[in-house]
Amino acid sequence: MAKVRLEEIKRRFNNVTAIEDITFDIPDGEFWVLVGPSGCGKSTILRTIAGLETATSGKLFIGDRLMNNIPARQRDVAMVFQNYALYPHMTVAENIAFGLQMRKVDAKLIQERVGTVARSLSLEHLLDRKPKQLSGGQQQRVALGRAIAREPQVFLLDEPLSNLDAQLRDDTRAELKQLHQELGITTVYVTHDQVEAMTLADKIVVLNRGRIQQIGAPQSIYALPANQMVATFLGNPPMNILSAKYTNDGFDASGQLIAVPELIKEKLQLHPGQNYDLGIRPEHISINNNSTLNTHTSAALSVQHSALSVDVKVVEPLGRETLIRASLPGSTVLLNVQIGGNVRVNVGDRLSVQLDLTQLFVFDSITGDRIW
Ligand code: ATP
Repeated sequence: MAKVRLEEIKRRFNNVTAIEDITFDIPDGEFWVLVGPSGCGKSTILRTIAGLETATSGKLFIGDRLMNNIPARQRDVAMVFQNYALYPHMTVAENIAFGLQMRKVDAKLIQERVGTVARSLSLEHLLDRKPKQLSGGQQQRVALGRAIAREPQVFLLDEPLSNLDAQLRDDTRAELKQLHQELGITTVYVTHDQVEAMTLADKIVVLNRGRIQQIGAPQSIYALPANQMVATFLGNPPMNILSAKYTNDGFDASGQLIAVPELIKEKLQLHPGQNYDLGIRPEHISINNNSTLNTHTSAALSVQHSALSVDVKVVEPLGRETLIRASLPGSTVLLNVQIGGNVRVNVGDRLSVQLDLTQLFVFDSITGDRIW
């Protein structure tokens, strides 16, 4: 096992800068997830660590060794891709053993190692099968097994679950987490799936357009996102963003007033007439008295809550909870609201909803940086 350090790594492809100013330090044994929208540079970073891509500038260390000029096969890393290319003519056992045989490891040791890996991935009963006799999830477990068997210093995974169906994906994700807890191999995992990022990571690196937006533990990034991109990327359904003008009476969002907590007024230098982007997560909006209103309510202001009138456009019952999409009257902005599964709401209802202002975020409307 080894720590991994990237120092100001940059990669250009002709005129395209794929990644820039990538600096982070993964301690030995930790599980880090690189996450971000398509094209943000996740795979380029992973491939640079693997040695499949050469950095245009910057330094890469695995352990204490500078790796920039070390070929991929000498880096002692194992990589698993989304397309788990197994050798079709070999059995599961032979596939797992392959890397060890290439390294001329002693046959008895290989047999032991295959047994251990098969046990930890629940593949024991499949060892004699060929890949085409396996389900997608089983094949992906074999690909993981083949990578683990080599006991690499660093484990690199590029969207390894994206070809699996939803249930299998959840199961394999849990297995991966357990496997990491058992083996403690330093792992870098690429995904665009924020659920995978939140559930697997010791630390998440959020990327956008080739640059790091934020690095932190999942819960701390969720609780205190650095900017609007991070705030809306992590969380499903995503955080609501309302564009609002600051006035002496409160934030004016499409003609409705949202109260400004005293603490925000004290700490932030808000300028009357200026626009701000307000952020509130769906779980921090609730329905007033669980009742629907027939008339437009004026904003009721209190210290901790602020009411808004909304029109229900879509109702999605999910069992334990119901997701509502609702618009502010006269506006096209849709708010996601998450309520209890037993609350009855219909499309077309006008509701009064409460924003929990203790959970309000304020973003600079130009830079997108969180200022509160
Ligand atoms: P995805 O989630 O879609 O796989 P990603 O976040 O992994 O995306 P990368 O594959 O790292 O993104 O690509 C980052 C940027 O670099 C993209 O704009 C991509 O088009 C560009 N890029 C990657 N590889 C090359 C290449 N070989 N030649 C030219 N441009 C490239």
